[in-house]
Amino acid sequence: MIRHAVLVGAFVLTLTASAATQPASAQPAALEAEALQHFLAILRLDTQNPPGNEVLVVDYLKGVLEQAGIDVKILARDPKRPNLVARLRGNGSRKPLLFMGHTDVVTVDAAKWTHPPFSATRDGGHVYGRGTLDDKPSVAAGLMTMLRLKRMNVPLDRDVIFLAEASEEGNGPFGINYMVAEHWAEIDAEYCIAEGGGVVREGGQVRFAGVTATEKIPHTIRLVARGIAGHGSVPLQSNPIVHLSQAIVKIAAWRTPMRLNDTTRAYFEGLARISPPDEAARYRAIVEGRDVEAVQDYFAAHAPLFHSLLRTSISPNITKAGYLRNVIPSEAEATLDIRALPDEDMPAFLDRLQALIDDAAIEILPGATGNGRPAAPPSRLDTEAFKVIEAANRRVYGVATLPTMLAGATDMAQVRARGVQCYGIGPMIDREDAAKGFGAHSDQERILEDAFEKFVRVHFEIVRDLAASR
Ligand SMILES: [Zn+2]
Repeated sequence: MIRHAVLVGAFVLTLTASAATQPASAQPAALEAEALQHFLAILRLDTQNPPGNEVLVVDYLKGVLEQAGIDVKILARDPKRPNLVARLRGNGSRKPLLFMGHTDVVTVDAAKWTHPPFSATRDGGHVYGRGTLDDKPSVAAGLMTMLRLKRMNVPLDRDVIFLAEASEEGNGPFGINYMVAEHWAEIDAEYCIAEGGGVVREGGQVRFAGVTATEKIPHTIRLVARGIAGHGSVPLQSNPIVHLSQAIVKIAAWRTPMRLNDTTRAYFEGLARISPPDEAARYRAIVEGRDVEAVQDYFAAHAPLFHSLLRTSISPNITKAGYLRNVIPSEAEATLDIRALPDEDMPAFLDRLQALIDDAAIEILPGATGNGRPAAPPSRLDTEAFKVIEAANRRVYGVATLPTMLAGATDMAQVRARGVQCYGIGPMIDREDAAKGFGAHSDQERILEDAFEKFVRVHFEIVRDLAASR
């Protein structure tokens, strides 16, 4: 029913907005076919980063946009890794709206894929391929939104800016960092819409639409243990492998302080409203500060994402030590992946870490702070943009929108740090899919065709409702 109502609504709008200029074929079914065709074409361009080669997608987008009469700018630090900016002008009464998608994808091990990773194979209602979730839906939906606004000649109160950005994976220097540093005026906006959110389906039921309003800040920290080298036949108390191991055990056992912010509080409150009673009780306990240790024990074992969202988290992910069986090494090193809450006082946090480890043989060396991604206050939840997103999700998916904090990191961090209110959206995903190996960055990344269609629709409606003249 919802699907039918939306289709009818879009059809009527299409006719009334520009019956004169609208090609007769551009009805919803044709639009969906057009969107899918662009999506498949973009998926088939190999933009593995490294090396990136995002110029392939940029050339494609440029061709389609220019043919539709939309001006584009190509802005590049490296000609093989350009960014594309397309802009539709409004009357300037409101500040622009930016939406972006990244054109690079993570690398593949092609031998592990059932369907070749750049084949964009359609099978059983899914499309398979690298980038089907991360982040080519944003690129294809952004393209379709521009095309539709242009064809319908929708009068705009604000400029609408589409940024197809390079080099998001690994946060390289060619994409958002280049755009923010060198071409800020091209993308400066009141609001930004990008990847990061998603609509959660579980057991075939759509549960809620998650919209990211903030994200954690990654920090890389190295622990270096030093001792005296010696013969393996004579064990030493100073063995740095032993010291490092003890430190890692202490870190693993440390439950860093729990803290809610506006976003995560609203998230857990919202989850409590839509969840079965036993689950809801846990979310309510977190919000109300009751039995929090027991609930966190449960999360740590059964819902590690929730455990992470409540705190600055630490995961030891690399160790390097030793080189011969009979040699006690003089050094051992661990790399910690710290994901900080947006308001974390990192120097104070590292002081606490030092006190916890309490070992003079171990030095804490700060690595890349934020991996180049700056901290910024969470985007507000009382904005027109958030309300428009909520309404669009309600129409298209029939569910409530919950604000969320992303445990990972996106290019919105850089844009948010410039004072833009940014919201992460994303297609509908079956919650069971990731565990089966079909998630983003997996060897069998896939998207439901129906989810792609809905995403294209909701993307357009969000942009239209935020930018069209009142
Ligand atoms: Zn991404």
